[in-house]
Amino acid sequence: MKKTAILLLSAVLALLVLAGCREEKKPTVNPPDTGTAATETETETETETETETETENETESETETETETRAETEPYVEPEPYIEPETEPYVEPEPYVEPEPTPSETAPLPPPDVTASAPVGYTSKGFPVEVRDGRTYIGGLLVVNKTYSVPADYDPGGMTPECADAFYRMREAASNEGLWIYSDSDYRSYALQSWLYQSYVDRDGQELADTFSARPGHSEHQTGLAIDINSCLLSFADTAEGKWLAAHCWEYGFIIRYPAGKEWSTGFMYEPWHVRYVGTWLSIPLRDSGLTLEEYLGIDSVYS
Ligand SMILES: [Zn+2]
Repeated sequence: MKKTAILLLSAVLALLVLAGCREEKKPTVNPPDTGTAATETETETETETETETETENETESETETETETRAETEPYVEPEPYIEPETEPYVEPEPYVEPEPTPSETAPLPPPDVTASAPVGYTSKGFPVEVRDGRTYIGGLLVVNKTYSVPADYDPGGMTPECADAFYRMREAASNEGLWIYSDSDYRSYALQSWLYQSYVDRDGQELADTFSARPGHSEHQTGLAIDINSCLLSFADTAEGKWLAAHCWEYGFIIRYPAGKEWSTGFMYEPWHVRYVGTWLSIPLRDSGLTLEEYLGIDSVYS
């Protein structure tokens, strides 16, 4: 009875060991994608396994064989992941822009493009008259005189950048010749001009005041484009600085705005100290022609 039991137990154990070993073999089965050579090897291996003693060593050698076989076949190459080709975003082509001509030292600069509004008319010399925000531009130039004014709230806050830049260059050029020019008065607000004009009216009466002081809104000083140089005295014209200013201010885009003997045109008496920035595109032809701004543009300067 005991012997039978032992035998049975041994048999069961042997079977169990066998079953266990077969389980271990399973990982050696090639994956399905290794090709024909690998499949053949697999078949051989399985036959071997069945006939020979199942040891761990055996399993190892089998694995080696398999590896060798794999090496013989085309090496498995991981396919390159598909990358979406980078597409350039559509960019609107730049519109063709006419290159700006480089102004030469002597050639007058083109008039500034200050407004897109349609002209309300033309002067007797054919310059377009445009009105924008209550200001009048003639031939593209902001004009202020007895006829044309700027609104009370127009306030550039100081000399305009172009005017200031031109003035500093002019001042430096004078300084290089040992002359000292400076701004006695440039930008003036509407309120300050009102006070100034009224004080002249109170002192001299309106008729006289109107010959040398502009009514509020009619002063070029409110535009930030006019500068009184050094001293507001007629004797300034006879100083070295006054003579230099009259001879050279044009080169920097300034004009002596109220020349001698032209009161009938400008509406104001001679002021050798008062320069107005207009740009060299206009200051040079004005110098060459000897005309006032009013004469050149074909406009008048009278209070309505
Ligand atoms: Zn002035």
